[in-house]
Amino acid sequence: MRVLAVGAHPDDLEILCGGTLARFVREGHEVVMCHATRGDRGSYGHTSDEIAAVRDGEARRAAEICGADYASLGLRDAEVSAADAAQRRLVVDLVRETRPDLIVTHSPQDYMSDHNEISKLVFDCSFHATLPLFETGAPHHRLVTPIYYMDTVMGLGFQPTEYVDVSDAIDTKTAMLEAHRSQLTWLGDHDGVDIVEQMRTATHFRGLQCGVGYAEGFVPCLTWLRGGTTRLLP
Ligand SMILES: [Zn+2]
Repeated sequence: MRVLAVGAHPDDLEILCGGTLARFVREGHEVVMCHATRGDRGSYGHTSDEIAAVRDGEARRAAEICGADYASLGLRDAEVSAADAAQRRLVVDLVRETRPDLIVTHSPQDYMSDHNEISKLVFDCSFHATLPLFETGAPHHRLVTPIYYMDTVMGLGFQPTEYVDVSDAIDTKTAMLEAHRSQLTWLGDHDGVDIVEQMRTATHFRGLQCGVGYAEGFVPCLTWLRGGTTRLLP
């Protein structure tokens, strides 16, 4: 399979589904990790361009650790909008270029707007990508791609219906998140959290729910044309 994972910011995929992506790669699937924004508005000490360059390097390194391909939509933090025609074209083209068999993205109801807006963009545009007369210059994708919504940050308001055992991928997941060095500082200063410890705790909590050491939780999008009879997650 070709798996397209779309997170809002550099580090979201690592926190919420990094273990599953690592398992996909290990089991022979192709994975693209795409971040919607450049991560350009979370710093007390750098300019936007400076922190975006740092975070681009960190995200590439994290994808490399996972064995995934790296992509970015290049948007600005806090400006992701499902109503924006230019952003809709970007996501249509992302789907057309990566031709996924499966998409993983944010839950539609997470804690901040960029997460919720990219979720809606991915839902809308993975359908629009199949319309031959939605012209962007790239050939249309043939599949209305199945979508799995990943957990919310700290699992709030999210009830998983499927779990992936990531016990033997938790070290890879941790290394992927630790590649986002600048975020370890930023989230400590801005939110008072140790993001690595928080991620491991949340992943352990999901593991306890399904009887393994560490797990990640998902909910499939079951609108018409998206559902199937076989499990697509590892
Ligand atoms: Zn985020």
